[in-house]
Amino acid sequence: MTLLPISSPRDTRRLMLKLVAKHKLMAVTAMVCLLGAAGLSLVTAPLLGSIVDLAVAGDVSAITDRVLLVGGAALAQGILAFGGLTLVARLGERVLASLREDFVAQVLDLPLDRIEAGGSGDLTSRVTEDVAMISQAVRTALPDFIQSALVLGLTLVGLAALDWRFGVAALLAVPIQAATARWYVQRSGPLYTARRVAAGGEQQQLFESVGGAETVRAFRLNDEHVSLVGRKVDATIKLIVAVTRTQTQFFGRLNAAELVGLSAVLVAGFLLVQAGSVTIGAASAAALYFANLFGPINSVLFLLDTVQSAAASLARLLGVITMSDPVAESSAKSLVDGSVKAVGLRHSYVADHPVLHGVDLDIPAGSTVALVGASGGGKTTLAKLLAGVHEPTSGTVHIGGVAVSDMDRLTLRKAVVLVTQEVHVFAGPLADDLRLAKPGAGEEELRSALDAVGWRGPDLDTVVGDGGHALTVTQAQQVALARLILADPLLAILDEATAEAGSSGARVLESAAKAALRDRTGIVVAHRLTQAAAADSIVVLDHGRIVEHGTHAELVAAGGRYARLWAAWSAHRG
Ligand code: ADP
Ligand code: MG
Repeated sequence: MTLLPISSPRDTRRLMLKLVAKHKLMAVTAMVCLLGAAGLSLVTAPLLGSIVDLAVAGDVSAITDRVLLVGGAALAQGILAFGGLTLVARLGERVLASLREDFVAQVLDLPLDRIEAGGSGDLTSRVTEDVAMISQAVRTALPDFIQSALVLGLTLVGLAALDWRFGVAALLAVPIQAATARWYVQRSGPLYTARRVAAGGEQQQLFESVGGAETVRAFRLNDEHVSLVGRKVDATIKLIVAVTRTQTQFFGRLNAAELVGLSAVLVAGFLLVQAGSVTIGAASAAALYFANLFGPINSVLFLLDTVQSAAASLARLLGVITMSDPVAESSAKSLVDGSVKAVGLRHSYVADHPVLHGVDLDIPAGSTVALVGASGGGKTTLAKLLAGVHEPTSGTVHIGGVAVSDMDRLTLRKAVVLVTQEVHVFAGPLADDLRLAKPGAGEEELRSALDAVGWRGPDLDTVVGDGGHALTVTQAQQVALARLILADPLLAILDEATAEAGSSGARVLESAAKAALRDRTGIVVAHRLTQAAAADSIVVLDHGRIVEHGTHAELVAAGGRYARLWAAWSAHRG
């Protein structure tokens, strides 16, 4: 099992800056507000200090003004901080929203084998836990973290401004704090990633054991699976305990740093007042400054915890988002039309058991070709090779002049959509299901796609799929055809789309298919020969070879295999 990639810290920083830069005005305003608030918070301690001095000097009359100033500063600081924090939170939400959209878009584009290789648990834990982790950080930790960091920096400056020796005294705490932070970051980063990976593994194991419960029971693997799940859970618990232990040690060390720093500042104040270099008020202000630092320091270093886990989660989201290949846009333009040219297609699922023996096809853009033939003849295989689902063992397929094997996923999606019998209706509102094919499509557009396929089912906001409104086979196929219309590829391949629907359903689907193929090249695996008769040309496939090729009239006149099939079909219908 290869887990999906995780982006490097450097890439993560670069991508985040790019995302934030999209909301430059908001980011700058937020910073200005928070800086203003931090600056105002500096005013309080010297003002209180000067009140002490006035009291010491017995000059009580001027105290009222100072008290009013302290109040005013606190009020302005509150307003600015509120504004700044709100803006940071809102900015975070916006960035997160676009992040989540990119993630979903990317996941829908991922080759299935890539997701399967990582196990769906890996993907699910990224979508659920990692996104939750980041939202939580964005809502609670991030604004606080930024504000505390600003207050911290500015207060140190203020402390030094009172007398540089206070600054020096306060700095005594810094080595301990720095060492603590370093120690913590080194430890917690990998711990959080490990905890998240373990949680992903645990979820995956639960999926497998619970999802495969019947198989597990049938083969009497119960005990084995219980112990498998147990091992994964144990691993998670061990990591959670390790995280908690690390946090406790971390706060213990920070308390020691506070003790050292505050003692140093008080001793410095005592000595400086004795030497007559500063007033008692200034010494009080210095002590207040330093005490004011406890909160922000603890916040910053404690939130380092949350910011760390959010960063770990972010790296996991961005790792998936950046999986796409950058050439996508450029080659999409080079498709000239929906013409199909296949040369010498051979395919074996199992070595030495070829199921296609050199198929050549040349389909002009905009025409509809019907594939006809007995079951097992290779129609589905051919459809999948043309759609790029499988690579042919040998031979080439070009769509619109571009080799399918050279197409990246985006180009492939623009070039061809294959609709098979196994239509998956995703759980959620019908509108969302349709938008898979065209994110951002308006309701009008969705309705017109549904109208085109003769939709008589529930409305756009009805929840369909697992646990929702159950769709009939015909309706599920109609949804698939409506998605096809929305995706608007140059080539559409319909494989057995009408086979299972019963005859009234089949008629609905026949006209839906016709609408879906309008204005594009179409290949239809035709079980109902009325569909073949309506096509521009017909290819008869037998035992992996093209045995007949021509228009309906030509093939009927030729009196070969198609003519016999047609005669049987007409008699049966009559
Ligand atoms: P059709 O769609 O005309 O019924 P298929 O393309 O499904 O024909 O099948 C052609 C041949 O390939 C059959 O002999 C079938 O058994 C074989 N085949 C189809 N899919 C697979 C597969 N995944 N693995 C091995 N053999 C397969
Ligand atoms: Mg088939």
